[in-house]
Amino acid sequence: MLNTATRSTTPRTVLVVEDEPTLATAVAQRITAEGWTARVASDGASAVQAAKQLKPDLVIMDIMLPVMDGLEATKRIVAERPVPVLILTARDDETDKVIGLGAGADDYMTKPFSMRELIARCKALLRRVERAKVIAKNSENEKILDFGSLVIDPGQRIVVSDGVQVHLTPTEFDLLATLARKPRSVLTREKLLEEVWDWVDASGTRTVDSHVKALRHKLGSAMIRTVHGVGYAFEPPANAE
Ligand code: CA
Repeated sequence: MLNTATRSTTPRTVLVVEDEPTLATAVAQRITAEGWTARVASDGASAVQAAKQLKPDLVIMDIMLPVMDGLEATKRIVAERPVPVLILTARDDETDKVIGLGAGADDYMTKPFSMRELIARCKALLRRVERAKVIAKNSENEKILDFGSLVIDPGQRIVVSDGVQVHLTPTEFDLLATLARKPRSVLTREKLLEEVWDWVDASGTRTVDSHVKALRHKLGSAMIRTVHGVGYAFEPPANAE
């Protein structure tokens, strides 16, 4: 009796940070309909406080917020405790700006969005956390990827560039490691979405572009080559053995 009841409905808590009451309510209702618990915070400072108390499994974060903006709130929340963050932006160019600032989010969506897509992205992020645990377990003994000035340790999830440890978000790390395991091989956006995000809908390919941009910002633009119309390839640094 017991084993049939529990497994499929893992209790999840989602913190929704949004200052537009109508949108916040709509998102919270949709999350509740999934069987998850939704909590709403309407400014950045309350979000940081709520994240501390609730220890949510996922955070949906608007960028333009009163008191403290979503960027600062995200930085503080992920510094305190690793949690996947899905950032909502008003426009595509705002998304680019936000990524450039390295907020530490795992995914981005531009308003207006469909609730169906929002929930699909949430599920993919939650699955990714579970997968990451399994991958981390499997990677414990994976050998270090040594490219001279760039060293990637999949077991410890550490990246060192020119002797300095680089802070990457979990998503950025997985993307880099996936590309670096096959140096110079071109991986399509769809393949990367499937491998890193477990997200197969091609509408998410912009997410890949966004994270490539973030990695280039942190590691230098030569590290990842764009193959127009196809995808991306990892280019080992020139000094690599
Ligand atoms: Ca707002």
